Amino acid sequence: MANRELVVLGTASQAPTRERNHNGYLLRWEDQGLLFDPGEGTQRQMLLAGVRASEISRICITHFHGDHCLGLPGVLQRLSLDRVAHEVTCYYPAEGQEFFWRLRHAAIFHDLATLREHPVGENAAGQDPAIEGPAGKGPAGKGPAGKGWVIGETAEFRLSAWPLSHRVPTIGYQLAEPDGRRMVPERLAALGISGPDVGRLAQQGWLDVGGQRVNVAEVSEPRLGQRFAFIMDTRMCEAVFAIAEGADLMVCEATFLDSDAALAPDYGHLTAIQAGQIAAESGVRTLVLAHFSQRYAHEDPRRFADEAGSVFGGEIVVAADLERVPVPRRR
Ligand SMILES: [Zn+2]
Repeated sequence: MANRELVVLGTASQAPTRERNHNGYLLRWEDQGLLFDPGEGTQRQMLLAGVRASEISRICITHFHGDHCLGLPGVLQRLSLDRVAHEVTCYYPAEGQEFFWRLRHAAIFHDLATLREHPVGENAAGQDPAIEGPAGKGPAGKGPAGKGWVIGETAEFRLSAWPLSHRVPTIGYQLAEPDGRRMVPERLAALGISGPDVGRLAQQGWLDVGGQRVNVAEVSEPRLGQRFAFIMDTRMCEAVFAIAEGADLMVCEATFLDSDAALAPDYGHLTAIQAGQIAAESGVRTLVLAHFSQRYAHEDPRRFADEAGSVFGGEIVVAADLERVPVPRRR
């Protein structure tokens, strides 16, 4: 099992189709499992996709339209049923607190799970540290600027949330691994460094070898941290570029095809071409298109890839339910 991969649980917006369940995406990232936007039926899709409730460590809700959250009651109750012992943090727009509580207490069950509620946004109690995205990208002045919050930080990654431009308060998410360094075996070998000395050198940043001090920079090279971006319901705005910047893997809504482009801003959505533009301008490597309108249920899904591909040269995946997409190998 790849230790960094996206498991697609559902890909339909608004109404499910015969082929597409409502939204749902699990990101496996080492020992973490981040569940994004569990729509209706997510619990069963998890079963079909081979995802256990105990894998979930964080739940990230973009907004409280039903296709993004009606699966939450089932998933939360399943955590209790399976007696998941670890804490699970739930992130969501602070303005939707009332909806979160309703979903959390939607039915009677023996509540054993340890949930940590983490509302996000200007109005959230206990403000998260603010961050800014790259300047000068996207339609300036349209929608929220590229400003977000760091909502979770571990030694392995930084999780941030950014306000998007939908019809209700909505946030997108970025998971970023810090840049690091990797040892170059040839350089180590040339200096005769091996075994436990390598760990010692990495830990203290230097090592004395035969009366000579070797710094870690001499035997290692920079290693770019990997990034994952998750953009759901939004119009084109500055914030999407902050989320997408340098993503190795990006899930982006592509509700409409270009033939219905006029509808996208009114409904607060993106077209496949716009998703491609965001990916192209942001240096994204693999673009996963998802959240398709049911109006295209009988269309060839490749149309989405063709339209996004007209402006984006990287890899494009038109997400299908139960598909797994590995985070691309490091650059
Ligand atoms: Zn939606």
